Amino acid sequence: MRGLVFTGVGQMEVRQFPDPIPGVGQVVVDIRCTSLCGSDLHNLHNPNLNHNLIMGHEGAGVVSAVGPGVTKVKVGDRVALYHVVSCGKCKFCMAGYAQFCTQDRRALAGIEHGTDADKVLVKEDNCLPLPDDISYAVGAFIGCFAGTSFSAMKKLAPNGLNTVAVFGLGPVGLAGVQYAHAMGARVIGIDCIPERLTLAEELGADETINFREQPTVPTLKALTNGNGPDRVYESSGSMQAQKDAIDACAVQGKICMVGFNGPMSLKTDNAPSLYAMIGKELTLMGSSIMPRQYHYEIVDFLRAKNIDLERMITHRFPFEQIEEAMRLFDTGKTGKVVIDM
Ligand SMILES: [Zn+2]
Ligand SMILES: [Zn+2]
Repeated sequence: MRGLVFTGVGQMEVRQFPDPIPGVGQVVVDIRCTSLCGSDLHNLHNPNLNHNLIMGHEGAGVVSAVGPGVTKVKVGDRVALYHVVSCGKCKFCMAGYAQFCTQDRRALAGIEHGTDADKVLVKEDNCLPLPDDISYAVGAFIGCFAGTSFSAMKKLAPNGLNTVAVFGLGPVGLAGVQYAHAMGARVIGIDCIPERLTLAEELGADETINFREQPTVPTLKALTNGNGPDRVYESSGSMQAQKDAIDACAVQGKICMVGFNGPMSLKTDNAPSLYAMIGKELTLMGSSIMPRQYHYEIVDFLRAKNIDLERMITHRFPFEQIEEAMRLFDTGKTGKVVIDM
């Protein structure tokens, strides 16, 4: 089978690998769709990466082989892939929170071979059942960023009385825009890339702020009668955005930080921001990936609110053009880039 590996900083190639053979509790999924994620770009520019590992962690497809003891899926099932492979036994795994596994936490394209390939080998627990009316692309999204985004927005739980500021309009932010809009809130998107701002407006942002052209905090205040947004969703991971989120948030507002982009910096050089957090009685939350069982809730929510996550796809490529797709995605000027097998 074919698989994409990163061979050096900014370098990649498609190589041949032996087809995987499922062991006890394992299944092989024939990939139908794999999508590119910001963390792929972190890997592409990481000098210490394992150059023999197949990349990709957002995938969906059809089960093509099952190992001994597999009972939850069968050959022919459509599945999305939950990208964290965990022990299944520790207290967090038992509760569905594989992202906090304390015993054996792996990730597709981190330790295990990933989804930028014809086939992937996973535990049966990594298979999220994919109903016929949910596309492979949306399934791939749910297993990573669209699930991460849902888990973060669910913590903020905005409604029609709230204004949600979404910092960072990459895929996690854009899914956040769609969810917050569907939950009834007024949505303000913040980024500096015009293509992303335009896409956010198409997907449900009521206003957008280009922070290279307008100062973020004063503009957010001006748009909210001087109060600031009462819900803030920070997906960029930038220190400036984290500080702006706290400075802009309304009194007794809620902030959820889901962006992870380099060293987290709230411990240093932030006395004014944390002072603002205390003085305004803000609730500050972090959010990491999603508990696996949210898969069902997300599918129900997408159906009930008629949300089409494929609307954030700006480019689709066949697997033969995955290198070209990755280079385009690396410009930061696309929405979601999807590879169809
Ligand atoms: Zn991802
Ligand atoms: Zn565990």
